[in-house]
Amino acid sequence: MDNISYGFNKKWNTRYSTPEFENTYTYQGNDLGSTYAREKTLFVLWSPFAKSVSVNIFEHGDAEVSDMLESVSMNKGENGTWRLELEGDYLNKYYTYSVKFDDEYNQFFDCEICDPYAKACGVNGKRAMVVDLMSTNPENWEADEDPNRDLKQNDYVIYELHTRDLSSLDSSGIKNKGKFLGLTENKTTVDSEGTIATGIDHIKEMGITHVHLLPFYDYATIDESKPFNSEEYNWGYDPLNYNVPEGSYSTDPYDGNVRIKELKETIKAFHENGISVIMDVVYNHTFNEEFCFNKAVPGYFYRIDENGERSNGSACGNDTASERSMVSKFIADSVEYWAKEYHLDGFRFDLVGLIDVDTINEIRRRLDKIRPGIFLYGEGWDLNTVLTRETKLAKQENIYLLNQFAMFNDDIRDAIKGSVFEEAEKGFISGNEESKELMLDSIKGLPTWSTSPCDVINYTSCHDNYTLFDKIRLCNENISFEDAVKQNLLAISIVMFSQGTPLIHAGEEILRTKTDTDGSYVSDSVRSSDSVNGIDWAKLKQKEYMDVYQYYKGMIEIRKKYDLLRYNTKEEAEKNIMFAENSNDLVIEYTITDKGREMLVVFNASQKPYSVDKDLSGYTVLVEGNQAKASGIRKAESKEKAESVSTMVFVKTL
Ligand code: CA
Repeated sequence: MDNISYGFNKKWNTRYSTPEFENTYTYQGNDLGSTYAREKTLFVLWSPFAKSVSVNIFEHGDAEVSDMLESVSMNKGENGTWRLELEGDYLNKYYTYSVKFDDEYNQFFDCEICDPYAKACGVNGKRAMVVDLMSTNPENWEADEDPNRDLKQNDYVIYELHTRDLSSLDSSGIKNKGKFLGLTENKTTVDSEGTIATGIDHIKEMGITHVHLLPFYDYATIDESKPFNSEEYNWGYDPLNYNVPEGSYSTDPYDGNVRIKELKETIKAFHENGISVIMDVVYNHTFNEEFCFNKAVPGYFYRIDENGERSNGSACGNDTASERSMVSKFIADSVEYWAKEYHLDGFRFDLVGLIDVDTINEIRRRLDKIRPGIFLYGEGWDLNTVLTRETKLAKQENIYLLNQFAMFNDDIRDAIKGSVFEEAEKGFISGNEESKELMLDSIKGLPTWSTSPCDVINYTSCHDNYTLFDKIRLCNENISFEDAVKQNLLAISIVMFSQGTPLIHAGEEILRTKTDTDGSYVSDSVRSSDSVNGIDWAKLKQKEYMDVYQYYKGMIEIRKKYDLLRYNTKEEAEKNIMFAENSNDLVIEYTITDKGREMLVVFNASQKPYSVDKDLSGYTVLVEGNQAKASGIRKAESKEKAESVSTMVFVKTL
């Protein structure tokens, strides 16, 4: 199809970009979508240039089934909306909209679409469903709340997880493989004695406070009619229905109620286990141009330049025009809905550098009304996008314009292990002497673009690119397993002893690898199989992997015990953290002195032991070699050496 069929043309773009259009057609109501009551159901769609719109009602949610019960014309409402109240009980009936245009391009635009504001839908998200949300609530849902609501942001430890990866392999011992429900199965173990926990018990035991789940709204790529097809896999950054959970994660993708109920049960179970839940949201692009909102209002949802060329900062060919009033409202309404209806505790914004700061601040304002402290962060990359009007974007350099919105710190990520874009490039842990300078600001939680440690998400790896362990092995040819482990431990210790909020890629604590059948490492495993992506719990039965896990767990315990690792203000970080002078580019030594305590941290990436030039009598050793213990490993000697490629941490009461 020609681009023009989705409104990618100059004429439509100009029309939407006028102040007159915004003034006339910005709808402020909160009834978009369908609203169920036993006596009647209300349908509202925003489509300012449609000639006519009708609602088609179906018995089933499967678009392959021809079972239309009726089709009823809608009436023109305010500000470009179409409305219809249908008398009678439409509970669990499915529906679509038929939209017809009276315009020179009408042959392209007439269409049947799912409701962009759908809150429930049938298999593969082609038909929306009239839902009674109250009936989807688990027992005692009113009492469900964020178990970590009293923590401050930098007390959090985030675990970035794909719903399917936790349970897809047999070693998980989890029954509901790849499902929402699999995320919360308790008492699953990997060993015959039943002592080594997997799944949620492992996450809890590790000390994680927040699970960040990769997208779980309804995405396009997986065929939900074959939910047990293990060959199909996707991360979910391909949004189809923004306000509906993904069907392949439910036990029945055909019944629109099931995925909603099961997701709510899952969130509740996380909360009962002391873990908060963060939703990964992708508003910067859609799966493709056939997104139902864009079909109802051709060309409105996306950015194109004055020549009608698509803006492509997202690399998906359809950057969302968040600066347009009804797109901005759509995004804010969606986040608010998830926070309220599903009790979510945070949102991670994919490529937030493409979204305007006003939209993000509006989201903050609305969430604060629900409750203060709902956690927001995202990828504030500087991307090449073409705005439909002048506005500021939510990228790192503009973080000062945002209110309580953190961003991923790629400075520390790349300084630690080498650039994610250069496979062979080494970072500090692998002996790159140029990396040290780049890390110092980040250790204080103050990379150049930030205003405070609350702006900063520190990490060494996530779902994108190679896993940390694979990257280490790729940029250090012929490295031994033992030496690669040492670099891995050094990497995570830098994240955990830096100010800011730490994020751990699920499975990094057991040296996660994404190895293909030919033995090669997979960088972007978005379409790889479960055998590449699944977390291999069997590793925990081997001592060398269990030791790594214990080190991660010890790191988290130390962070939780010592609040001088969790500053929330720039002033505290600047005042209390002092770097020791040393001329070795592969050694970083610093102290954090506060509230009657001093912590001394040494990161030694060199191939030689490093002697601390200080009398350490009276200090306790917290981290040494492959051990990390909040209660302390031993008393320090007056003279101490950090072994090659290792971290040492000492603490004393002053
Ligand atoms: Ca789907």
